[in-house]
Amino acid sequence: MGRLLAWQLLRRGHSVTLFDRDSAAGELSAARVAAAMLAPYSEVVSGEREVFDWGRKALAAWPQLLQQLQADSGIDVYFQQRGSVVIAHAPDRSSLEHFNRRLAQTVPDFGHCIKNLAQDQLRELEPELAAHFTQATWLSEEGTLDNRELLAALEAAIRRLGGRWHERVCVASVESGAIHVGDDIFRCDLAIDARGFGAKHQLAGLRGVRGEVLWVHAPEVNLTRPVRLMHPRYQLYIAPKRDSVYVIGATEIESESLAPITVRSSLELQSALYSVHTGFAEANVLHAYANCRPGFMNNLPRVEVSRGLLRANGLYRHGYLLSPVVLRCALETLTGDVEHPIVRVINEAARPSMVAGR
Ligand SMILES: Cc1cc2nc3c(=O)[nH]c(=O)nc-3n(C[C@H](O)[C@H](O)[C@H](O)COP(=O)(O)OP(=O)(O)OC[C@H]3O[C@@H](n4cnc5c(N)ncnc54)[C@H](O)[C@@H]3O)c2cc1C
Repeated sequence: MGRLLAWQLLRRGHSVTLFDRDSAAGELSAARVAAAMLAPYSEVVSGEREVFDWGRKALAAWPQLLQQLQADSGIDVYFQQRGSVVIAHAPDRSSLEHFNRRLAQTVPDFGHCIKNLAQDQLRELEPELAAHFTQATWLSEEGTLDNRELLAALEAAIRRLGGRWHERVCVASVESGAIHVGDDIFRCDLAIDARGFGAKHQLAGLRGVRGEVLWVHAPEVNLTRPVRLMHPRYQLYIAPKRDSVYVIGATEIESESLAPITVRSSLELQSALYSVHTGFAEANVLHAYANCRPGFMNNLPRVEVSRGLLRANGLYRHGYLLSPVVLRCALETLTGDVEHPIVRVINEAARPSMVAGR
């Protein structure tokens, strides 16, 4: 979120300095760990209706944002919107039926984007799944992007546009017009706090929700769109990236531990993966990551503004799905009043004092 805001503010002519306790590549961020699924339909089944409505708007905004980013960075970020496929093994078929019923109840007007597929239709869409699965649900609007490429493109664009970057610097607190780093105070017109779970001590009610993923290279597998496997205990998804790389995730544990992935989670993810496609048996595990999603109690994002201070946080499971909408809300607060449930003005008289460019 911080990188997106920095890039867009630079484009608008502002002078921007970034502080990150991590490297510019964001190796330790939730953003790097994520599968970057853009899945409003799958998420609304066990989530909030807002995530669906805002998520569909954000999905429509990604292509234009990525075009701009390519112009600024020279990097063409992988993005696809071929829909996603939801499947279940025969003993778990009731989980898929339950998912379909919940979806039909929750978003009754969007039946045209939700298709139940028989085996021959699945064979046409994803031939390598049809060997093991006789039915599926196709959510035709869903997509995914490559977050490694997005982070690299944002870094390149920020540097090209003159953003200053203090890497591996831990920020102690962010206040109105001030960033505190150790004993030093960096003063600015507007301080933006986009530290995700790292801002927990300054944001009441923010919690971390642990998630674990595997990144694998599987040249024997040819899946062209995200796949979600229904299971009574968890939902596993497989998000394809370029060059036979797949992200497999994700656990969701109400814990704020940032410890490496557990053997149990790793075994569960890998065995579920193998059960979807035996070609994953020979896959190489590239990374096993764990991190915390930053969530408020309502699991919805929030932009808080007061004079000289903007906090954007609470993106929870939906950092990629929702960030274009959060970004737009945050940017709009800098030039006028914004009425959006995401935005909270802490003190009516207090807008960030930053209307013009540098
Ligand atoms: C396993 C997993 C899978 C996910 N899958 C998806 C998905 O498929 N689709 C989707 O939309 N979302 C997904 N998400 C959610 C998404 O990753 C998050 O919502 C998003 O990354 C939150 O963005 P953020 O910028 O608020 O926080 P982060 O991405 O964590 O970024 C915070 C930044 O602040 C820096 N920072 C933190 N504390 C400090 C400090 N004290 N000083 C300086 N810098 C600091 C960090 O180094 C980092 O660079 C997933 C998350 C996880 C963990």
